[in-house]
Amino acid sequence: MVGDMGAAPVDFHCHLDLCPDMRAAFDRCDRAGCITLAVTTTPKAFGRNRAMAATTRHVHAALGLHPQLVAQRAGEFALFEEAAPSARFIGELGLDAGRRFYPSFELQVQVFERAMAMCARLGDKVISLHSVRTAKQVLDVIERTGAHRTCTPVLHWFTGSGPEVRRAIDLGCYFSVNEQMLKSPRGRSLLEAVPLARLLTETDAPFQSETDGPRAPGDVDGAVRLIAESHRKRVEEIRTSVRATARALVEE
Ligand code: MN
Repeated sequence: MVGDMGAAPVDFHCHLDLCPDMRAAFDRCDRAGCITLAVTTTPKAFGRNRAMAATTRHVHAALGLHPQLVAQRAGEFALFEEAAPSARFIGELGLDAGRRFYPSFELQVQVFERAMAMCARLGDKVISLHSVRTAKQVLDVIERTGAHRTCTPVLHWFTGSGPEVRRAIDLGCYFSVNEQMLKSPRGRSLLEAVPLARLLTETDAPFQSETDGPRAPGDVDGAVRLIAESHRKRVEEIRTSVRATARALVEE
């Protein structure tokens, strides 16, 4: 064991296959002992992510169909259905009502609902969820499909309102949070509402943009510090809590 793994980071939502060097990104996380959820954006990408994750101890690959790609990739849904029974981790799935993706919104809802119904039926999945301008609709689908009863939804970069955060907590959702979102007023109020035991850290690498440079996979120090400030605890306590939460979800 290298160093104190109790203090090693958790990156519960990042795109290692979209980093400039995928192999290096997997190795970097694994060497750091970082419990990593390597989400994917298309079912086609899942195979190579799963194969690479199998060569690591701490990286876990998730089967996804990103809402921003549903317009072009809905045809890959059969591949999703084929891989889902053997995939413990699912994501990135969800809805995006941003201006660019609104034209595919109806199709996004159909695909998302089918995917979540399938997860609910199969059970025992950990599901990383995208919800840009769709907090209510994403929570509605979780509830309607019953996915929260048999699976563990993890809301990634969630920017819902106070009542929506409370509803998500009541549904048993977890939250993966990053430094950029936690610097916003919505992010700060989310931290005030969510119990520490439901919090995970993420980078969403390579997509988080910071004025002081992008965050590399596993680089969650800033997020940990902001959680510590909000919960008035030491950074080390936050690390230990997030680590324990992630370990329980990945059964590491
Ligand atoms: Mn993402």
